[in-house]
Amino acid sequence: MEHKQEKGFIRVTLRNGDKLNTRLVVGADGKNSELARRAGIKKTGWRYNQTALVCAIEHEIEHNGLAWQYFLPNGPLAVLPMKGKRSSVVWTEQNIHAKTVNSYDKTKYTNILEARLGNFLGKFKIIGDRHSYPLELKIADRFVDERLALVGDAAHSIHPIAGQGLNAGFKDIAVLAQVIEDAFLRGEDFGSLGVLSVMKNGVGSTVFNSHTVLTCLTSYFQMKMKPFASCVISESKCWTAFQLLSKKLSKRPQV
Ligand SMILES: Cc1cc2nc3c(=O)[nH]c(=O)nc-3n(C[C@H](O)[C@H](O)[C@H](O)COP(=O)(O)OP(=O)(O)OC[C@H]3O[C@@H](n4cnc5c(N)ncnc54)[C@H](O)[C@@H]3O)c2cc1C
Repeated sequence: MEHKQEKGFIRVTLRNGDKLNTRLVVGADGKNSELARRAGIKKTGWRYNQTALVCAIEHEIEHNGLAWQYFLPNGPLAVLPMKGKRSSVVWTEQNIHAKTVNSYDKTKYTNILEARLGNFLGKFKIIGDRHSYPLELKIADRFVDERLALVGDAAHSIHPIAGQGLNAGFKDIAVLAQVIEDAFLRGEDFGSLGVLSVMKNGVGSTVFNSHTVLTCLTSYFQMKMKPFASCVISESKCWTAFQLLSKKLSKRPQV
């Protein structure tokens, strides 16, 4: 896909050759956003030296809709409820361990996972494929350009420690929809940079707070402090703590 600025609109050429003229392009194309790259928007961030090992499990005991997160020295391990007696596991390990674990067959992999999960879900088995994702922080230097708005991971991809990535994307979309509606009602050109720049007031501070808090949480639980190594907290508690910290941080003057 290509896009080219014209006076008052942007021309988009799709892969199949179709051409569209529009006042605004929304870049929702993930953390390696082609649209951001084409617009010359740079990303800032770092690698966490961690890989998320992801799989789905089928278990004996009901999850009752509860999500759990274990804060282990090598990284958090999340168990997220799915339909029926199934859950999604997001198991974060240091890269070096993740590589080793990933090379194991299903039985050995399951045994290691079992040692970490315990038996609160009873006996379990892995269903479907196993996946792995190297984790990194990537935040776009700016979220908008003339006739372009980046949302979701295209604008910011953060550590999945508290499962906030998707929420942050929803917030971007809500803010963008409001900006468009307000501009439309005022009779302004909603694709213009002047109008879109308002987005950073609603999105920028949230992202800054999220990644600050998540980075603190990640580092904190990696300190291998014994009392915390076996600590298990539910995601709702983690979210409450996150909101409190976030509120405190957002009271600081914005620069
Ligand atoms: C291991 C892991 C666990 C996570 N767990 C959670 C969690 O528990 N809760 C949570 O809220 N978040 C979680 N996240 C984060 C969450 O997955 C992301 O924040 C979210 O998926 C971002 O959505 P997105 O639509 O912005 O980007 P993506 O999900 O990356 O979607 C972008 C889409 O755009 C498509 N695309 C790209 N280029 C083009 C193109 N040129 N044309 C057409 N389509 C294109 C891609 O194929 C893709 O489908 C997790 C992330 C990871 C890595």
